[in-house]
Amino acid sequence: MKDYMVRAVAAKGALRAVAATTTRLVEEARRRHGTSATATAALGRALTAAVLLSAGLKDRGRVTVRVAGDGPLSPVVAEASVEGHVRGYLRNPTFDLSPNAQGKLDVAGGVGRRGTIHVVRDLGLKEPYVGSSPLVSGLIAEDLTYFLHESDQTRSACALGVLVDVDLAVRAAGGFLVEALPPAEEEAVGRLEGNLVRMASVSALIDEGKSPEDILTAALEGLGVKILGRSPLEFRCRCSRDKARALLAALGEEELRDMLAEGRSEMTCRFCNERYLFSGDELAEILESLETS
Ligand code: ZN
Repeated sequence: MKDYMVRAVAAKGALRAVAATTTRLVEEARRRHGTSATATAALGRALTAAVLLSAGLKDRGRVTVRVAGDGPLSPVVAEASVEGHVRGYLRNPTFDLSPNAQGKLDVAGGVGRRGTIHVVRDLGLKEPYVGSSPLVSGLIAEDLTYFLHESDQTRSACALGVLVDVDLAVRAAGGFLVEALPPAEEEAVGRLEGNLVRMASVSALIDEGKSPEDILTAALEGLGVKILGRSPLEFRCRCSRDKARALLAALGEEELRDMLAEGRSEMTCRFCNERYLFSGDELAEILESLETS
């Protein structure tokens, strides 16, 4: 089944919710970056967090989540656009950690428990909206809810989950975010909290085959949930051979001459790990275009 996200409201508009399955796009990120199990979980959670925040965009723009902790995998960077295009990367993708005391992938150890979560909401206007808050656990979901509280004064509940199989492939990934719009109704929030306590982990639900609609229906049971719409998600980068070429040209004549002396050049996209190779002939061509312009 393809990845998608579902938006909903409940409690007569007092609660705004979004849930997403991201199994395929996290698997694509894993395949591209060759991530270890712990790195897959950390990157997958960040990618899902960016997706959930992108639900708040109107008709254009993108959201970038940058989790900069003091762990070996930080920073973890994820971006999601209003079109449902998602991409991201992290430091030391192949680095793995031992499981934590609960026998789970040690995401907090990888990300680091101290640091900052940065959120950039680029609405396509002149200036993007930039906010940040300190990390509270390095687990990303808690860090995000703390950010929403500090930055947007919104009370929220967030779950992010990535289940990695024994062969390192992504078995299930996804998450949900429910925000209580001020003035938050205590009764609705109490009911929501009761529902969440009874629910299994989001990765277990997705692994069982539950859809984003099923997850929102369970989380918002008894709260008059109204599904607003669904939209597809996929791992897709904005890089291209033309953009890589333009970046090479921007390096300037001196740098290009050094590369030409080496006979070739390779540009790797940080976000998707795509490699763009440029031969000596192509470098000479770029150099020529600079000299004649
Ligand atoms: Zn790329």
